[in-house]
Amino acid sequence: MNAHAKLFALAPRTKLLIGGDWGDAAQGKRFATLNPATEETIADVAEAGAADIDAAVAAARRARKSGPWPMMSGAERGRILNRLAAILRERTEELVQLESIDGGKPFAATRRMDIPAAIDCLEYYAGWADKIAGEVIPARRDALTYTQRVPVGVVAVIVPWNFALMNAVWKIAPALACGCTIVMKPSELTPLSALWLGAAALEAGLPPGVLNIVPGFGADAGAALVSHKDIDKISFTGSPQTGQFIMRAAAENITRIGLELGGKSPSVVFADANLDQAVRQTASGAFFNAGQVCSAATRIIVDHSIHDAFVDKLATRARGLRLGDPREADINLGPVISQKQMDRVLSYIAIGKAEGAQTVSGGARSGDRGYFIEPTVFAGVTGDMRVAREEIFGPVVSVLSFKDEEEAVALANGTAYSLAAAVWTKDIDRAHRMSDRLDAGTVWINTYGPTDARLPWGGMGGQSGIGRDLGRSALDNYSEQKVVWLQRAG
Ligand code: NAD
Repeated sequence: MNAHAKLFALAPRTKLLIGGDWGDAAQGKRFATLNPATEETIADVAEAGAADIDAAVAAARRARKSGPWPMMSGAERGRILNRLAAILRERTEELVQLESIDGGKPFAATRRMDIPAAIDCLEYYAGWADKIAGEVIPARRDALTYTQRVPVGVVAVIVPWNFALMNAVWKIAPALACGCTIVMKPSELTPLSALWLGAAALEAGLPPGVLNIVPGFGADAGAALVSHKDIDKISFTGSPQTGQFIMRAAAENITRIGLELGGKSPSVVFADANLDQAVRQTASGAFFNAGQVCSAATRIIVDHSIHDAFVDKLATRARGLRLGDPREADINLGPVISQKQMDRVLSYIAIGKAEGAQTVSGGARSGDRGYFIEPTVFAGVTGDMRVAREEIFGPVVSVLSFKDEEEAVALANGTAYSLAAAVWTKDIDRAHRMSDRLDAGTVWINTYGPTDARLPWGGMGGQSGIGRDLGRSALDNYSEQKVVWLQRAG
C-alpha cells in the first residue's frame, strides 16, 4: 500500500454530506486534492455545484424547522459538542495525518496546535450551549418584558485552507451551541478534514441536516452559497477580495455577514526588549505554517539602534529552519499550499528585490518537487514598499527600522490591515501606550501569535474584516434577540 492509498483509507469520506447522507454531486463532477509536498493526488472529492448547494440549504432549513434539533435543550446540544470533541481527541492521530498531508503542515505542529485548538473550541462552546440566555428588562410596571436569544437560522460557513479544521470549528462550534444549522464549504485545496468532521459529527449524535458539508470551488459552490436566498448568515474567513464579493452578494438578500480577512501584522521591537526572545518568537510568528497565517508577523519594525544585531540574528535563525515533507520529524516548515500560491509568493520576492530590499536569507524556491520556498528575510525595507504593505501569505518577512516611538506607531499602523500586532519592551508604560495606539484586534506584548477560544478574534476593520470569531461575543454572531412583552391584566 503506498502512502496515499494508506491516507485515502483514513479519508473514506469524499462525497457530499447533505441531510445526513453521503452522495455524489448532481452533475457527477469530482476534483483532486493534492499533497503540496509531493504534488501527488491524495483523493478525488465530489464537487458541489449550484444544485447541490440548493439541496444542502434545503436540508439545513428542514433540520432547523423540524426534527430533533429545534426540540433539543442547550444542555443536549452541549453534550453533542462534547462528544464530538471526544471523538477528535480519541482519533487525533488520524486527523493529524489527514490535515497535515492535505494542507502541507508539519505533523508536529498540527498535533500541537490545530487539533488541540479545535478540541478546546468545541468544549468551550459546549459549555456555553446551556447558558445562552436573554434577560428580564423591567421596561413598564404593567408588563413583564424580557428578551430571548434565538438561533439566527441557517448559517453558510466558508473557510480557507491554512487552518482548515480549526477555522471551521471556530464557526461551527458557536453556531451549533446557539442551535443553528449549517452548510459549510471548505476550501477546494483542503476538503478532507471537513468531510472527516462531518462524519464525526453524525457519530457524535448531531441530527441529519444540521451540518452539511459541500466541498467545491469558490466561483461555483461558494458563489451559489453566498447568494442563496434562504441563508440567514454568512460566516467567512478568507481573502479581502473574496470578502468584498461576499459583501456584494449578501447585499442582494440582506444577509448577515461576518468577515475574517487578511493581515499584515507588525511586530515592534524596542531597544530594551529581550532581543533573543524577540527574534525567536517573531521568527516563529513569521514562518509558522510557512507564513500562511492571517496574523503572521510579516513586518518587523525594529529600533534603529538594534537593527543590525536583530537582522543578523533573524537571518541566522531563518537559515537554520528546516524545510521538509510534513511527515518528517524535526522539520520547521512544510510547503506552501499550491503552485498558484508558490508563484504568488515568488513574485512578491521578485518585487521586494526590484524595490531595493536586501535579501538577507532565502529568496528562492527550494527543490523542484513540492511547493517549498526558503524562509526569506528582507532588510532595509521602507514603509512604502509593496512587500511592506501587501499580504504575501508565505514565508517572507520584511524588517523596517524606526528612530522613535512616533515613527514606530506610524509604520505599524501604515497599512490597510488591522488584525494583530506585537510590541517587545520591558517598559510597562510604553507597552500600555503602544497597545492603546496600535490599530489591531489583538495586541501581543512580549509574545507573538497565541489565540484562545475564550478571547475574541478579528480585525479592527479595513482589509482585516468585520466582526469577531471566538469568545463569548461569537455567540452574538449566531443568535438574535427577541423581545417578549407580556401585558399584565388590569
Ligand atoms: P480565498 O478568499 O481565496 O478563499 C477562502 C474561501 O472562500 C475558500 O473556501 C474559497 O473557495 C472561497 N471562495 C473563493 N471565491 C469565492 C466566491 N466568489 N464566493 C464564495 N466563496 C468563495 O482565501 P484563501 O486564499 O483560501 O485564504 C487566505 C486568506 O484568508 C488570506 O487573506 C488570510 O489572511 C485569510 N485568513 C484570515 C483569517 C482570520 O482569522 N482573519 C484566518 C485565516 C485566513
